[in-house]
Amino acid sequence: MRLRNVPGSRELIAISPDVVHDERAMKGQWKQFFAERRKNTESGEVNIENVTESAAGEAAGFFSASDFHPLHVEIGMGKGTFLLEMARRNPDVDFIGIEKYSSVLLRAIEKHAEASEVKNLVFIRMDAEEIEEVFAPGEIDYIYLNFSDPWPKDRHAKRRLTSDRYLPRYEKLLTEEGGVTFKTDNTDLFDFSLESVKECGWELLVVTRDLHNSEYAEGNVMTEYETKFSGLGNKICMMRIRPDRVKKTV
Ligand code: SAH
Repeated sequence: MRLRNVPGSRELIAISPDVVHDERAMKGQWKQFFAERRKNTESGEVNIENVTESAAGEAAGFFSASDFHPLHVEIGMGKGTFLLEMARRNPDVDFIGIEKYSSVLLRAIEKHAEASEVKNLVFIRMDAEEIEEVFAPGEIDYIYLNFSDPWPKDRHAKRRLTSDRYLPRYEKLLTEEGGVTFKTDNTDLFDFSLESVKECGWELLVVTRDLHNSEYAEGNVMTEYETKFSGLGNKICMMRIRPDRVKKTV
């Protein structure tokens, strides 16, 4: 998704309290970052710059394990509808949305600003290509890929977020129990992803080609694309996958 360039979007992003700008400095520190953010929220002071600075420095010994919450990341979040609802429904989980384009991120920022009670969600403007610069091994508990760009040409296959270039990266960044949920209405991309899962030695936990009429429909949070494409009559495919850690250690 690429919206028309919105004048001033970079400036608006720069002052948003819901965007983390020095994301590389947070590598390995995300759980402390959210613990600090929660603490500041409870005491009534939300100042993201303080949060970012202190999280990197003093936090490690300052919090107890119960201050840390699971970290879930959506890659290519678009306008953030899914994440805002997930953050509302799961106050004990911390969420990060990654989006490549400023113009799209701006829409998510606007929505988040209207839901200012939601504190367990922040955004990063970055390309998923750089994900290993921003998260440390074992730092992410769960990843969502919703309606990822299909990159239909064969020569662009590696850019698909479920390709064998990306799954090994996710494997490194996920916790032992971590996994990925992928939704799309694009059956070619879904088929490609099933192959990629096999090639990368991942485990397929759940697969449906008609999510909305399946047992997994309950509790499903719709994304913007999901609303749009299911409204056109397209069926939504969904898979839940995880690295096959057992097989690899045998
Ligand atoms: N998840 C949303 C949007 C899907 S469109 C939904 O389901 O409604 C795919 C989104 O991923 C677009 O906003 C696009 O800009 C973003 N995107 C695509 N490739 C990306 C990448 N490499 N890194 C970060 N974001 C990316």
